[in-house]
Amino acid sequence: MRDKLRVVLENKKEEYINHLLELLSRDTQVIGHGIEGGREKNGQDYLEQVMESMGANVVREHITEELVQRGIETYSEGNPGHNYDDRYNLVADFKGGGGRSLMFNGHVDVMPPGDLSLWDSDPFKPEIRDGKFYARGVADMKAGLMASVLGVKLLQDAGVELPGDVTLLSVVDEEGGGNGTLASLLNGRRADAAVVCEPTNKNVIVAHMGFLFFEVNVTGISLHSSSKWDGVNAIEKAMFLIDALHQLENRWMMIYRHQMLPPPTLNIGVIEGGTAGNDVPNHCTFKFCLHYVPSLMEHQDVIDEVQDALLLRSRGDKWLRDNPPTISIYQQGLGFEQEVDHELVTLAKASAEQAFNEEFVVAASPAANDARLMKNIGQMPTIVCGPGRMEDCHTVNESVPVAEYLDFILAYALLIWNWGQRS
Ligand SMILES: [Zn+2]
Repeated sequence: MRDKLRVVLENKKEEYINHLLELLSRDTQVIGHGIEGGREKNGQDYLEQVMESMGANVVREHITEELVQRGIETYSEGNPGHNYDDRYNLVADFKGGGGRSLMFNGHVDVMPPGDLSLWDSDPFKPEIRDGKFYARGVADMKAGLMASVLGVKLLQDAGVELPGDVTLLSVVDEEGGGNGTLASLLNGRRADAAVVCEPTNKNVIVAHMGFLFFEVNVTGISLHSSSKWDGVNAIEKAMFLIDALHQLENRWMMIYRHQMLPPPTLNIGVIEGGTAGNDVPNHCTFKFCLHYVPSLMEHQDVIDEVQDALLLRSRGDKWLRDNPPTISIYQQGLGFEQEVDHELVTLAKASAEQAFNEEFVVAASPAANDARLMKNIGQMPTIVCGPGRMEDCHTVNESVPVAEYLDFILAYALLIWNWGQRS
């Protein structure tokens, strides 16, 4: 099968490259992390046209605040208050034989290009230079998204019937935290397995960490610093609480060791408070982000442990006991972990290696993505594997080698074929 598909790929190369160039030329950036909206429609228009011409049944799927609220309440997943004007997922279903079904997930939204003067070429006028595509979003992740569409097309062009049903999911608002994929899963979209086409540096990714962002507000009593003893210094109280968090972090590091992932971390990222050196500050706010290891640590337990550590420390201080800090979570996502001995992992690795003639490594990723939703909410065996390098995401002069993009079209086609051989 590989050699047969390779010949067709070679003949269709130009057409497949042009499909990606066209998608890259469409500005699909999210605005204000999705809160203010996004321009995904520019790209969805093109994908809809391509997938319909391939014979798919394509549905436009709208996201609603109700769905997002349901995600938060049921799964601790979802980011409220985003603008969804003109933003919708595309769900394209291709009928196959009786074999196992497969779903590909890719996000069509891209990060804003930032300072244009830092780019060597216009981020939305894609170019091929030195054998690489250059454009905003090519690595994150239009090359992966288009490669999944053309993986189906390659089988069609070779006259091979799809062994099982294939669903292509082109989602919006991933850079806003994953509301697009969340909505699709809450609407009941499922397959026998899922592939997220994010760039993975030729790895098959089977795990990433869970994360939580907290904000803590501490109050005090303001006074001139010459009579400090009559006031309450909110910054010093906050440092007292931060110390408790570092003790918690140290304890976690000692206990939780994951085979593929780094230890849990807790980073104090923002601290604000006070007005002048001779003023006792009456408020202090600090924000932190923590990453925890999946399977070994449960999301809710992590939240409880953070709250317990802060409140226990507060009980040991007269002021904080009577004026406890307010603690809130402003962003969160669960961890992702796919059992490595699952057949999907074996077949994904084998299919990629067949296409590339190169070894792919089963590994974990430092960065979170929609795989956690596919696995935790969709309950589907899930892997992440796609063209490009993670370090090229969200940077200027984003690129993906043309050869790697083409080989991924073949890798996805082979995975559809290999996975669908059993029912
Ligand atoms: Zn991405």
